[in-house]
Amino acid sequence: MAKPKVAVLGLGIMGSGMARRLLSQGFPLTVYNRNREKCAPFTSEGAFAAETPREAASRSQIIISMVSNDEASREVWLGDNGVLAGAAPGALLIESSTLSSDWIHELSAKASERHCLFLDAPVTGTKPHAASGELIFLVGGSDEAAEMAQPIFSVLGRQTFHLGPTGSGALMKLVNNFICGVQAASIAEGLRLIDAGGLDRSKAESILTNGAPGSGIVKRVIERATANEYTPNFMLRWMAKDLSYALREASAKNITLQTAAAASSIFQRAITEGYGDEDFSAVTKAL
Ligand code: NAP
Repeated sequence: MAKPKVAVLGLGIMGSGMARRLLSQGFPLTVYNRNREKCAPFTSEGAFAAETPREAASRSQIIISMVSNDEASREVWLGDNGVLAGAAPGALLIESSTLSSDWIHELSAKASERHCLFLDAPVTGTKPHAASGELIFLVGGSDEAAEMAQPIFSVLGRQTFHLGPTGSGALMKLVNNFICGVQAASIAEGLRLIDAGGLDRSKAESILTNGAPGSGIVKRVIERATANEYTPNFMLRWMAKDLSYALREASAKNITLQTAAAASSIFQRAITEGYGDEDFSAVTKAL
C-alpha cells in the first residue's frame, strides 16, 4: 500500500527527529517551521518545505504538530494560514506537543467542524527516542482516528497507549511530566543539602542513583550535573510550562498539586536565573 502523505509542523528538538525518521522510512513528507532556515536540511533529503501550515496541510493526509506550547499550537492550527484552513475533509490531524487539555478540547471541536479526524498524541521519550523511532505515544481520540494513525505511530514509536476520548493523552502527559519535574526539583534540593553537609558528592550520587530514589529522571539529572553538561534534550522552560499546565488542570478539577507547585517555583527561579534554554537538569544550578 502507498504510504500516506504526511506533514510535520515544528522542526525543533523533537519535530526534527520525527521528520527525519519519517523520511528515512519512505513517507512522502512536507515540513513547516516558523523559522524557515530549519527546513533546509529536510528539503535536501527530499521533503517539501511549505511556506505556511495551511500549504503543508493542503498537501497531506496526516498532519502532525510538534511545537512548544498552547500559543504556538494555536498559531499553527488556526488563522488564515493555519492547518485548519488547508486540511481536506477526512484528513487526520495529530497534536503531539505537550499542551493544556482546555486547548486540546477547543482544537478538537474546530477540527470536527472541518470534518477532520483529530488525536491528541503527546509523547514520552526525548531527543534520541524521537530520532530513532522509540517514542511512546499517549493518545486521546476516536478508535477510527487511532487506527488511521497506527502506521505513523509504529514508525515513530515503540509503544502506543490509546487512553480514551479527546484530552486523555494530554492529561496523562501532564501527570507524567509533573512527576518528572517534581523529581528533578527534589534532586536539585538533595544535591544542595549534600554539598552543604560536606558529604562526598560522588558517593552520595552513587547511593541515590543505585538505590530506591534512582528513577530514570533522577539518574539523568545527576548524570548531567556531574558532567556539568546542559545542552538541551528537553529545555528547562518547557518543563516549567508542563508544571504550570498540570497545576491549571488540577485546579480546574479542585485538586491541589502541592509538590508540583513547589517544583514549579524552583523551575521559575531557574528561568529567572537564565537557565530556561538549557536542559531541564540545569534546575540543579538554580539552587
Ligand atoms: P523546541 O526544540 O523548542 O521546538 C519548538 C518548536 O516550536 C520549534 O519548531 C519552534 O519554531 C516552534 N514554535 C514555537 N513558537 C511558535 C509559534 N508561535 N508559531 C509556530 N511555531 C512555533 O521544543 P521540543 O523540545 O521540540 O518540544 C516540542 C514539544 O514537545 C513541546 O510541547 C515539548 O513540551 C514536547 N516534548 C518535548 C520533549 C523533549 O524531550 N524535548 C519530550 C516530550 C515532549 P522556531 O524554530 O521558529 O522557533
